[in-house]
Amino acid sequence: MLSYRDLINGLKDLDIQPSWPLLVHASLSAFGEVRGGAETVLGALLATSDSLMMPAFTYRTMVIPETGPPENGIVYGSGEKTNRMAEFFWPTMPADPMVGALAEQLRLHPHSKRSNHPILSFSGINVEKALESQTLDHPLAPVGVLAQQGGWVVLLGVDHTANTAIHLAERAAGRRQFTRWALTPTGIVECTGFPGCSDGFNQVARLVEPLFVRKAKIGAAVIQAMPLLPLIEAVTDLLEMQPGALLCDGVDCERCDSVRTAGQ
Ligand SMILES: [Zn+2]
Repeated sequence: MLSYRDLINGLKDLDIQPSWPLLVHASLSAFGEVRGGAETVLGALLATSDSLMMPAFTYRTMVIPETGPPENGIVYGSGEKTNRMAEFFWPTMPADPMVGALAEQLRLHPHSKRSNHPILSFSGINVEKALESQTLDHPLAPVGVLAQQGGWVVLLGVDHTANTAIHLAERAAGRRQFTRWALTPTGIVECTGFPGCSDGFNQVARLVEPLFVRKAKIGAAVIQAMPLLPLIEAVTDLLEMQPGALLCDGVDCERCDSVRTAGQ
């Protein structure tokens, strides 16, 4: 079973400075058993950096309308069942299990604040400026603010398919963004600027690993850290040169298909 000390030692191998704001994506199950679970992992991260941000996404608010803009990577009218199960966004709504137990632990921390995007909110400690930058049309603006502040992204037991910073590069390169809809107490909110599919993002590893990625292990999990700004710049350059890069090869991936159709 992993201890707090094991986590601290593993994170030390990444040589992270406490002043670097961190965007963290994590899957605790990759570690094996941790004494104290998510709370221990969060404690180790807070001992590593003064500022932390994680996604607190709430996919259960999403609804699919009968019609909408064309080439939107969605099958309109296909939400008959899921729309009935959708929940109103509420600031205290738990983060989706898909973004992991650590993200929910951070959201629940007494010093944590949360942005108010009804699908793609972030939560964090000492990242107020980043959280305030988020808009419906630019849901990943908080990641851009951390990049400008010299922030790093840390992947704990997850790969680049969880790396939201890559979506920011897609936007910067002019790649098609999508529109999604969320249920809120004041009605259905249109969320433009919604990012594409990340299933093909591991293709980025070969490009960025030799440049600036630091890797270590904690228990069974591979952990990695990379600086946000150079990452976003390298991926933006890649997408400008190869507009089809990082798309997935799923046969029924509507979002990647829409990007291919649009030619960007
Ligand atoms: Zn895809």
